[in-house]
Amino acid sequence: MKDRGYFGSFGGAFLPEVLVATFEELDIHFQEVRRDEQFWRAYEDLMGSYSCRPTPLTFARNLTRHFGGAKIYIKREDLNHTGAHKANNVMGQGLLVQKMGKKRVIAETGAGQHGVACATMAAKFGFDCTIYMGEVDVMRQRPNVFWMEQLGATVVPVTDGTRILKDAINEAFRDWVTNMDTTHYVLGTACGPHPFPQMVTFFQSIIGKEARGQILEIEGQLPRRVYACVGGGSNAMGLFSGFMDDPVELVGVEAAGKGLDTGHHASRLCSDDASPGIAQGYKTYFLQDDDGQMKETHSISAGLDYVGVSPILADMHDKGQARFEGATDAEVVEALKLTMKLEGIIPALESTHAFVQAFKEAPGLSTKDCIIINQSGRGDKDIFTVADALDDPKWKSFIRQKAGQYA
Ligand SMILES: *Cc1c(COP(=O)(O)O)cnc(C)c1O
Repeated sequence: MKDRGYFGSFGGAFLPEVLVATFEELDIHFQEVRRDEQFWRAYEDLMGSYSCRPTPLTFARNLTRHFGGAKIYIKREDLNHTGAHKANNVMGQGLLVQKMGKKRVIAETGAGQHGVACATMAAKFGFDCTIYMGEVDVMRQRPNVFWMEQLGATVVPVTDGTRILKDAINEAFRDWVTNMDTTHYVLGTACGPHPFPQMVTFFQSIIGKEARGQILEIEGQLPRRVYACVGGGSNAMGLFSGFMDDPVELVGVEAAGKGLDTGHHASRLCSDDASPGIAQGYKTYFLQDDDGQMKETHSISAGLDYVGVSPILADMHDKGQARFEGATDAEVVEALKLTMKLEGIIPALESTHAFVQAFKEAPGLSTKDCIIINQSGRGDKDIFTVADALDDPKWKSFIRQKAGQYA
């Protein structure tokens, strides 16, 4: 187990002794299904009947005309059940849990999106479900907490430490240590100890597989570049997986927040503020200080606001196999406004980071070229943040009136 799960010098599984056997068991089951074509077919069937797969590849005619360069295509992961690519990962892990014969799942969530996806999966499969969430996040993300509870999950507010995501991760691991015989820990992104980065990438690779087939069918050629936002890195790895062996440039876009030179961002690979380290059971680039203390991160989008990054992307970064750029909060709001007005599409704030970079580069490419942007999720969930960013007076009076009903 010790030498498994490395990507260059990144990854690995740095585990407390009590969890080693559980990870072994998970790895054995995962390596088995990874080679099992029938399992993949069952996964595709489930996603086809429950989550709108294959998701469309939409030609953005008006944006293309606006920028006057490469043809812009959008991979519509927003059309998944629960509104994002997260469904691919949780449903895949659900099938695996069923195969392992376990009856209970746990997860940690920051913004709540992964918690909702996980609670949905648990309801569908009939699993018990406990979601750990920092107390601060529980207060900030009431709509998602509401839905998790309606879906039948128990949401446990974590009161340790700073009461945010990393404290919830610790608590989830504590639960797993106590209940490993009955319980599976559903990690939400392509991070964490082996086999999670590889496993989450495996389930998300459905995005890239579909996108490659779709663009060849529509355009008769491969895209010049593909763009995806990078939080933990799962939607990016999902899209990139389809084009690893092709002459296609892979572009990951991180949250540059208030600007890369302000310290208020969440850019691990495109800034000089992160360094390799070991935390949360794996080795990658972390936004940490010289003593290994994690720094505060900032992004307008909760889903990209994370100190670590997939070890697979860290390795691809060091080897020059992918390029990483940053999009600021302000650029994201502008790109979102344009995309809504021109295409009638509302990308999640996370996804909009990828749109920003594609918009910067499309005009410099030939009109014969095409590019693909991964729309990892839909933006309806961001109504509070976007209405604030646009300083919409009608929204404010609506909130005031609502609050007045309960005064
Ligand atoms: C969670 C989330 C992300 C970030 O996660 P990755 O693992 O980096 O893909 C991106 N977009 C949306 C819509 C999300 O919900």
